[in-house]
Amino acid sequence: VVPTLSIKDLTVSFGKPGRELLAVNGVTYDVQPGETLGVVGESGSGKSVTLLAALGLLPSPPARISRGSVEFQGRDLARMDAKKVRQIRGKDVGFIFQEPLTSLNPVMTIGDQIAEAIVVHDQNIGWQKARARAVELMSLVGMPDPERLAKQYPHEFSGGMRQRIVIAIAIANNPKLLIADEPTTALDVTVQAQILDVIREAQEKTGAATILVSHDLGVIAQMASKIVVMYAGRVMEAGDAEDVLENPLHPYTAALIECAPTMESELKDIHPIPGQSPSLMEMPSGCPFHPRCRYRQDVCASRVPAYRAIGSDRHVACHFVEETAEGGRLVVPAAI
Ligand code: SF4
Ligand code: MG
Repeated sequence: VVPTLSIKDLTVSFGKPGRELLAVNGVTYDVQPGETLGVVGESGSGKSVTLLAALGLLPSPPARISRGSVEFQGRDLARMDAKKVRQIRGKDVGFIFQEPLTSLNPVMTIGDQIAEAIVVHDQNIGWQKARARAVELMSLVGMPDPERLAKQYPHEFSGGMRQRIVIAIAIANNPKLLIADEPTTALDVTVQAQILDVIREAQEKTGAATILVSHDLGVIAQMASKIVVMYAGRVMEAGDAEDVLENPLHPYTAALIECAPTMESELKDIHPIPGQSPSLMEMPSGCPFHPRCRYRQDVCASRVPAYRAIGSDRHVACHFVEETAEGGRLVVPAAI
């Protein structure tokens, strides 16, 4: 199967050559049709920048893809002209971002906005049909009485309802790829679960490959079949979601899991990972996680660990993860 999106060794730099800051450093992952890939990491880890750069949405300059490739259904986006990329993005990629109000037009009824999203990419459909399809989409994303609500404006809806409208627009053209970047972060907890359900249904309906970006491991755990863990612009660990959550190999993944409020048990003791994620300006030498890693050894500060395959389905960037018969494990002389 050709992956819907395949990112290889993607490196994104900001600023002038020679004095560049790397926001994304050698990131590799892909997502297949119908699959949900969860990208998790603290804010500033490069999760969003990777995708924005991959899809030609970062202003260049100052951002620049300095290395790597991006293939959308086998076509290299990084070397395609901007107009063609814009076409693919508009027709085949649906976006769901954190703050729904900013992606909606305040002075247009939501029925018209959804219909417009359809007409822009299908000039032959006609306004009336597009309006009917908009109403269908609204009921698909669980909006009650869509005929009536179609005549209302974004400010008349709650945050959760607005996010449903954004999802309706995102899937209006049967996208091949859905990107949901912190789609529930601005919503309260009960609404979060509903919106995740709507995204799951939207994905099932369209069969789109989905990339869910979140700082919240709980959200990722509920949705993803594959996980990519990012830190300081790099991938630390990736693999099958269940495997990674049950048996994290990278110390950063383990720390993320430890500090996530557990889903079954109550919030007994949440200990955030000590220290802060690094800024682009002061990237640590060697393993970027070493200042916060309780397993660090001397080598960690001087050598960048290679991102390599462990077992059949896992990739890890840590000097001390070894392959074993059961998959892999962390082997360090002593924890500090
Ligand atoms: Fe920790 Fe060293 Fe592994 Fe980095 S390479 S995660 S510092 S043990
Ligand atoms: Mg982000």
